[in-house]
Amino acid sequence: MSSDSAFRRMLRDAALRVTRPRVAVLSAVHAHPHADTEAIIDAVRGRLPKVSHQAVYDSLRTLTAAGLVRRVQPSGLVARYESRVGDNHHHIVCRSCGAIADADCRAGAAPCLTAADDRGFAIDEAEIVYWGLCPGCSPSP
Ligand SMILES: [Zn+2]
Ligand SMILES: [Zn+2]
Repeated sequence: MSSDSAFRRMLRDAALRVTRPRVAVLSAVHAHPHADTEAIIDAVRGRLPKVSHQAVYDSLRTLTAAGLVRRVQPSGLVARYESRVGDNHHHIVCRSCGAIADADCRAGAAPCLTAADDRGFAIDEAEIVYWGLCPGCSPSP
Protein backbone atom coordinates (compact mmCIF):
# COMPACT_ATOMS: atom_id res chain seq x y z
CA MET A 1 0.00 0.00 0.00
CA SER A 2 1.47 3.31 -1.05
CA SER A 3 1.70 6.17 1.41
CA ASP A 4 0.82 9.83 0.97
CA SER A 5 4.49 10.69 0.61
CA ALA A 6 4.68 8.28 -2.35
CA PHE A 7 1.59 9.90 -3.90
CA ARG A 8 3.08 13.37 -3.42
CA ARG A 9 6.24 12.18 -5.14
CA MET A 10 4.20 10.74 -8.04
CA LEU A 11 2.49 14.11 -8.50
CA ARG A 12 5.79 15.98 -8.43
CA ASP A 13 7.40 13.50 -10.85
CA ALA A 14 4.50 14.17 -13.24
CA ALA A 15 5.13 17.93 -12.87
CA LEU A 16 1.75 18.38 -11.17
CA ARG A 17 1.11 20.71 -8.26
CA VAL A 18 0.62 18.75 -5.04
CA THR A 19 -2.87 19.51 -3.64
CA ARG A 20 -4.82 17.75 -0.91
CA PRO A 21 -7.64 16.68 -3.27
CA ARG A 22 -5.14 15.23 -5.78
CA VAL A 23 -3.31 13.26 -3.08
CA ALA A 24 -6.63 12.01 -1.66
CA VAL A 25 -7.99 11.05 -5.10
CA LEU A 26 -4.76 9.24 -6.04
CA SER A 27 -4.88 7.39 -2.73
CA ALA A 28 -8.57 6.45 -3.25
CA VAL A 29 -7.92 5.13 -6.77
CA HIS A 30 -5.01 3.02 -5.47
CA ALA A 31 -7.17 1.66 -2.64
CA HIS A 32 -10.25 0.95 -4.79
CA PRO A 33 -9.36 -0.41 -8.25
CA HIS A 34 -12.07 0.17 -10.88
CA ALA A 35 -14.08 2.45 -8.58
CA ASP A 36 -16.51 4.83 -10.25
CA THR A 37 -16.57 8.57 -9.58
CA GLU A 38 -19.22 8.30 -6.85
CA ALA A 39 -17.23 5.67 -4.95
CA ILE A 40 -14.08 7.79 -5.27
CA ILE A 41 -15.92 10.85 -3.94
CA ASP A 42 -17.09 8.78 -0.95
CA ALA A 43 -13.55 7.55 -0.27
CA VAL A 44 -12.05 11.03 -0.62
CA ARG A 45 -14.70 12.49 1.72
CA GLY A 46 -13.56 10.02 4.36
CA ARG A 47 -10.36 12.11 4.53
CA LEU A 48 -11.49 15.51 3.25
CA PRO A 49 -15.13 15.85 4.33
CA LYS A 50 -15.59 19.22 2.61
CA VAL A 51 -14.11 18.34 -0.77
CA SER A 52 -16.40 19.33 -3.66
CA HIS A 53 -17.52 17.02 -6.46
CA GLN A 54 -15.87 19.43 -8.86
CA ALA A 55 -12.50 19.15 -7.08
CA VAL A 56 -12.69 15.35 -7.38
CA TYR A 57 -13.73 15.51 -11.06
CA ASP A 58 -10.92 17.97 -11.78
CA SER A 59 -8.37 15.82 -9.95
CA LEU A 60 -9.47 12.69 -11.82
CA ARG A 61 -9.21 14.50 -15.15
CA THR A 62 -5.75 15.88 -14.33
CA LEU A 63 -4.42 12.57 -13.00
CA THR A 64 -5.78 10.71 -16.04
CA ALA A 65 -4.25 13.22 -18.46
CA ALA A 66 -0.90 12.89 -16.66
CA GLY A 67 -1.03 9.09 -16.96
CA LEU A 68 -1.08 8.46 -13.19
CA VAL A 69 -4.58 7.06 -13.39
CA ARG A 70 -6.28 5.08 -16.14
CA ARG A 71 -9.90 5.66 -17.05
CA VAL A 72 -11.89 2.62 -18.12
CA GLN A 73 -15.35 2.97 -19.60
CA PRO A 74 -16.89 -0.17 -21.08
CA SER A 75 -19.84 0.78 -23.27
CA GLY A 76 -23.05 1.32 -21.34
CA LEU A 77 -21.29 1.72 -17.97
CA VAL A 78 -20.07 4.75 -16.06
CA ALA A 79 -16.35 5.46 -16.12
CA ARG A 80 -14.14 3.64 -13.61
CA TYR A 81 -10.63 4.55 -12.57
CA GLU A 82 -7.60 2.47 -11.67
CA SER A 83 -3.99 2.96 -10.70
CA ARG A 84 -2.66 0.10 -12.84
CA VAL A 85 -1.40 2.11 -15.81
CA GLY A 86 0.91 1.60 -18.74
CA ASP A 87 0.75 -2.19 -19.02
CA ASN A 88 -2.00 -2.47 -21.65
CA HIS A 89 -4.03 -4.89 -19.53
CA HIS A 90 -7.61 -5.62 -20.47
CA HIS A 91 -10.88 -5.94 -18.59
CA ILE A 92 -13.53 -8.56 -18.02
CA VAL A 93 -16.95 -7.04 -17.41
CA CYS A 94 -20.06 -8.69 -15.96
CA ARG A 95 -23.12 -7.97 -18.14
CA SER A 96 -25.40 -8.35 -15.16
CA CYS A 97 -23.87 -6.37 -12.27
CA GLY A 98 -21.11 -4.41 -14.01
CA ALA A 99 -18.29 -5.94 -11.93
CA ILE A 100 -14.88 -5.41 -13.57
CA ALA A 101 -11.78 -7.59 -13.25
CA ASP A 102 -8.33 -7.22 -14.77
CA ALA A 103 -7.12 -9.57 -17.49
CA ASP A 104 -3.45 -9.57 -18.33
CA CYS A 105 -2.52 -8.88 -21.91
CA ARG A 106 -1.63 -12.17 -23.59
CA ALA A 107 1.06 -10.63 -25.75
CA GLY A 108 2.66 -8.39 -23.11
CA ALA A 109 3.69 -4.95 -24.25
CA ALA A 110 1.31 -2.50 -25.91
CA PRO A 111 -0.15 -2.75 -28.42
CA CYS A 112 -0.99 -6.41 -28.11
CA LEU A 113 -2.85 -6.58 -31.37
CA THR A 114 -1.35 -5.64 -34.66
CA ALA A 115 -4.04 -4.57 -37.03
CA ALA A 116 -3.99 -6.42 -40.33
CA ASP A 117 -4.00 -3.03 -42.01
CA ASP A 118 -3.36 0.03 -39.82
CA ARG A 119 -4.69 2.33 -42.61
CA GLY A 120 -1.92 4.78 -41.86
CA PHE A 121 -2.81 5.26 -38.18
CA ALA A 122 0.00 5.14 -35.59
CA ILE A 123 -1.60 2.63 -33.20
CA ASP A 124 -0.42 2.75 -29.58
CA GLU A 125 -3.15 0.89 -27.75
CA ALA A 126 -5.52 -1.99 -28.31
CA GLU A 127 -8.54 -1.91 -26.04
CA ILE A 128 -10.17 -5.25 -25.42
CA VAL A 129 -13.17 -5.87 -23.21
CA TYR A 130 -14.29 -9.40 -22.42
CA TRP A 131 -17.98 -9.52 -21.55
CA GLY A 132 -19.73 -12.25 -19.58
CA LEU A 133 -21.14 -13.05 -16.15
CA CYS A 134 -19.15 -12.79 -12.94
CA PRO A 135 -19.13 -15.78 -10.52
CA GLY A 136 -21.76 -14.08 -8.36
CA CYS A 137 -24.13 -13.61 -11.34
CA SER A 138 -23.53 -16.96 -13.08
CA PRO A 139 -26.37 -19.43 -12.63
CA SER A 140 -25.14 -22.14 -10.28
CA PRO A 141 -24.65 -25.51 -11.99
ZN1 LIG B 1 -22.02 -9.86 -11.85
ZN1 LIG C 1 -7.81 -2.75 -14.63
